[in-house]
Amino acid sequence: MPTKAALNLVPATSLASDLLIVGGGVLGLWAAKYAVDAGLKVTLIDKKRCGSGGSRGLLGALAPHLPNAMNDKKRFQLHALDELPGLVAQLEERSGLSAHYGQTGRLMPIRVKGFQKRVDRCIEESAANWDLGARSYTFEQVDVKRYEGWINPDLAPMGLAFDSLSARVVPRSFMQVLFASVMDRIEIIENCELVSFDQQKGSARMRDGRVILADNVVLAAGYETYDLLQPLVSATLGHGVKGHSSLFELDGVSQMPSLYDNGVYIVPHGDGTVAVGSSSQNEWSDGAAVNEGHCQPYIIKAKELCPALQKAKFLSHWAGVRPRSYAKDPIVGALDDRGSVHVLTGGFKISFGIAHRLAQALVERLVGAEPKVFLPPSYEVAYHLAEATKDNRGDK
Ligand SMILES: Cc1cc2nc3c(=O)[nH]c(=O)nc-3n(C[C@H](O)[C@H](O)[C@H](O)COP(=O)(O)OP(=O)(O)OC[C@H]3O[C@@H](n4cnc5c(N)ncnc54)[C@H](O)[C@@H]3O)c2cc1C
Repeated sequence: MPTKAALNLVPATSLASDLLIVGGGVLGLWAAKYAVDAGLKVTLIDKKRCGSGGSRGLLGALAPHLPNAMNDKKRFQLHALDELPGLVAQLEERSGLSAHYGQTGRLMPIRVKGFQKRVDRCIEESAANWDLGARSYTFEQVDVKRYEGWINPDLAPMGLAFDSLSARVVPRSFMQVLFASVMDRIEIIENCELVSFDQQKGSARMRDGRVILADNVVLAAGYETYDLLQPLVSATLGHGVKGHSSLFELDGVSQMPSLYDNGVYIVPHGDGTVAVGSSSQNEWSDGAAVNEGHCQPYIIKAKELCPALQKAKFLSHWAGVRPRSYAKDPIVGALDDRGSVHVLTGGFKISFGIAHRLAQALVERLVGAEPKVFLPPSYEVAYHLAEATKDNRGDK
């Protein structure tokens, strides 16, 4: 991540901002971008480095929900994925960097009648459901011969489902582009950990004793947001799910579609790398510790599915933690009527494709702008609080 000279040099005296953003992951940085665009004076802190949390992953799949039985969440993601290439292009132009974005589509092998039926429904409904007027996206069944060498035909006996909406980025490059879009316009303080926020005084206390005064605070601290929220709402709204992914070098496949089968993703990037992932672990102690045993089953399956990967050069493994809300969906918005604490977390496995839209919705509300983005009801803070109480999963 690029740095600016002042990053860690802010003295232990009070700073004052309109908005304090806690967490420099993909959600916090998008929030910073929309907030500074709206004219707010923004301070963003990160307890480590910006882009060092879950957003430092390797995979970068921007994977849509299937286009049958549309609902609010599917529509929200459809619009988010549709507008993302335009936004990325603007940020790339400003920074001179590349996120290696590509709308290269996704293939899924069809092996069983149940999935074939679902594919048939998706093909039928996608024409209307994925037509946005200015652009439309397709869901179709294609012959496996079209992707000879990229997919093992024995593992797709009934053919392949292909969608043209899926896209990919190199997550670390994407984060650099996003960081560059705000780094000269906001105050960024790294190695600075929020421990508490006093809503009445509008004062945020850091672990090292620093105090930052802010009218509003956005908690975008990834899975750690749930711990920061706990004393404020007396409930635990989610947890961190650890995952592993692996990176390979392989030339000549950057325009191939991603492959998805039974929990295994193979994502060819625009920089000559291919990522494979991702495992999920609810129980873990060190979120960043790589355990090769969690990577190998995915790599073995990936090489079976994608013969081209067999000659790829291994580069690295990575482990990180994704925020997952118990009510399954992201949490976005003001915590209560006082309106000074805002929550932005819970993107789980699809954050990179929707983060900008979640952040835009939050900032529109925060500044009282005419809303352009409407959130699905299950993304609202009130929904998550009600679910926590109902299911007795929270600590209330
Ligand atoms: C193995 C794996 C594969 C994945 N693959 C994909 C994929 O293909 N596509 C996709 O869209 N998503 C994917 N995800 C999910 C995605 O990476 C995450 O959902 C997303 O990065 C979360 O972003 P965030 O901004 O909410 O949190 P983070 O990126 O974790 O950022 C939170 C930041 O807050 C900081 N912080 C925490 N506590 C404090 C505090 N008290 N004070 C100050 N700072 C604090 C942290 O240091 C961190 O930098 C994957 C995740 C994993 C683990």
